[in-house]
Amino acid sequence: MYDIVIIGAGPAGLTAAVYARRANKTVLILDKAGFGGQITFSPKVENYPGFESVSGSELADKMTEQVLSQGAEVEIENALEIKDNGATKVVVTEDGNEYECKSVIIAAGAQHRHLGIDNEERFIGDGISFCAVCDGAFYANKTVALIGGGNSALQEAILLSETSKKVYVIQNLDFLTGEQRLQEILAKRGNVEVILGTVVKAINDTPTFSGITLLKTADGTETELNLDGMFVAIGLVPENEPFKNVADLDQNGYIDADEKCLTKTAGVFVAGDCRQKTVRQVTTATADGAVAAINACRYIDSL
Ligand SMILES: Cc1cc2nc3c(=O)[nH]c(=O)nc-3n(C[C@H](O)[C@H](O)[C@H](O)COP(=O)(O)OP(=O)(O)OC[C@H]3O[C@@H](n4cnc5c(N)ncnc54)[C@H](O)[C@@H]3O)c2cc1C
Repeated sequence: MYDIVIIGAGPAGLTAAVYARRANKTVLILDKAGFGGQITFSPKVENYPGFESVSGSELADKMTEQVLSQGAEVEIENALEIKDNGATKVVVTEDGNEYECKSVIIAAGAQHRHLGIDNEERFIGDGISFCAVCDGAFYANKTVALIGGGNSALQEAILLSETSKKVYVIQNLDFLTGEQRLQEILAKRGNVEVILGTVVKAINDTPTFSGITLLKTADGTETELNLDGMFVAIGLVPENEPFKNVADLDQNGYIDADEKCLTKTAGVFVAGDCRQKTVRQVTTATADGAVAAINACRYIDSL
């Protein structure tokens, strides 16, 4: 039996593991995808204290090294359910394993939101991407669109503009919502064109991805845009359904918790982007990880 099972090896889960190991608790971290979470998609992180500028994957690597050196165990497995047996919990995974523990920290983060239009699923990985860091190189000297106007979208557009021939930034609102500093960098890139007040109406239905149809929301004008690729950065959705027996979800699917990161179930804590909060950043995820782990340790010590 483990003291703590942590679901998710993003910044929140990794920080929770550091605090729990330093309190001498046995820790198992489960992640369905790998180490680091969403921040591995970020080309440059410039707002995490201690690093003037660092790539998201380098930051995640440093966090992971620290956790592994402290003796946390890790399994690449998808957690499907948390069974609450009172003083013990059981985390059930897709591989059929059942991990018994005294406390669980849910740090499952969030996933990329899809546009939800025809042909999108068909072209993911073959014309449509959610990660400029991972796939931007495939579109060197090519024409791409970046859908979205928030911080993540602008960071991705800046990265794409360094290698792609042309980058269209398509935003549904009449203004960009990303930081002013990012907007200023983007405005200086000669190969970037920002199109506001416009949504993607359709993905052209040809055998291969060839472009999109845009709809200007103010007057209903439609235009065709020929593209080699499209990157979608329109926000995130949590994937907390598997945990709703032990944690209340708000109307957007985020987990409700108190300031101790405690859910409605004694011994089940939550940290990071999967939690109801107003700011989803690495700093807030790591802060939650610390709070959740300290309170999980106190809970275990009180058993
Ligand atoms: C492109 C991009 C750029 C960003 N840039 C910045 C930035 O510059 N500065 C900043 O502060 N923040 C940035 N962010 C936001 C930051 O990455 C997140 O706020 C942070 O990663 C949240 O950490 P987390 O641990 O809560 O969740 P996540 O990073 O989402 O990690 C959650 C982990 O849980 C795993 N998981 C989910 N469900 C399960 C399950 N059922 N079983 C097992 N594992 C599961 C996932 O695989 C994932 O690895 C950026 C995000 C993106 C996408």
